[in-house]
Amino acid sequence: MEFDLIELIRRRTIQPRDDVRLGIGDDAAVLAVPAGQELAVAIDTLVEGVHFPRGTAAADIGWKALAVNLSDLAAMGASPAWALLALTLPNADVAFVEGLAEGFAKLAQSHRLALVGGDTTRGPLTISVAVHGFVPPGKALTRTGARVGDAVLVTGTLGDAAAGLHALQHPLDDGDGRAGLRDFLIGRLNLPTPRLSVGAALRGQASACIDISDGLLADLGHICAASGVGAEIDAALLPRSPALMALYDEAGALQFALSGGDDYELCFSVPAQRLADVQADLSRLGCGATRIGRIVEGAGVRVRGTDGEWLATDHPGWEHFA
Ligand code: ADP
Ligand code: MG
Repeated sequence: MEFDLIELIRRRTIQPRDDVRLGIGDDAAVLAVPAGQELAVAIDTLVEGVHFPRGTAAADIGWKALAVNLSDLAAMGASPAWALLALTLPNADVAFVEGLAEGFAKLAQSHRLALVGGDTTRGPLTISVAVHGFVPPGKALTRTGARVGDAVLVTGTLGDAAAGLHALQHPLDDGDGRAGLRDFLIGRLNLPTPRLSVGAALRGQASACIDISDGLLADLGHICAASGVGAEIDAALLPRSPALMALYDEAGALQFALSGGDDYELCFSVPAQRLADVQADLSRLGCGATRIGRIVEGAGVRVRGTDGEWLATDHPGWEHFA
């Protein structure tokens, strides 16, 4: 049965690549790293009930398991090539594995990524994906290069995924015409878009970069800690979707945008003199970025509210949606 499932996954995820000398089917994959490139590798695990709600569609799980990893490569400015998939299943559910492989393949094929191996075991539903990507030598984006005076930017909109989780956990009977807005937010939770083209375009441009998996405050906080700087952001500048603003009041929407996880947008810093060029480059790619604040001396992230006062984001009551 295990071998039927592996064969099913292999067939559903076929992506020919010259650099895959041996893919699924032997004891290990054999891969040719292109001359003159460095390898960027990352792994992330999704556990049912922890990283996605029980009942999430199989195809969405397959997409998201890959997307969160591709987001890590995007944050490094790396271009994806290969993946490994370790699947732990409570039982040999063919329909579930078909759905999972389909969701995985849809995202993989749009980036010409080849699934080259993995492992299949029995146990509580858990999906681990490891990804491998290429980056020119010394050009990987890291968390350490932010400097005082740099602008801080984010891609996309913030808070949608956390609001989508909140919407899932608080179902409404939708006679009120808000189902489409809720579906948009839930789609942002289940089917995140890794910002790979942005990450690649930021090589040599951004001074630091991270993907937002744990919320803007936490992840920008990681850049600050790694770079030995602080950051000031303006609540009024945070990009928030029409759906988020329509379904939640200002305080709730701000909370999601600052502290909500799972958005998989990029947060990065850019030296002020390069800001205009970078923003023009990114809007040409069709994924603009919004300037939300700047890097300052000190430590930690401070948020200026729309009234001009600093918000007490370290207050224990702050994360009441968490
Ligand atoms: P071994 O016992 O030698 O590790 P396995 O029986 O675990 O071999 O796997 C056989 C082949 O199938 C290997 O090439 C492995 O990489 C691949 N494989 C197993 N599970 C998966 C999976 N979930 N997705 C992709 N490839 C898989
Ligand atoms: Mg094995």
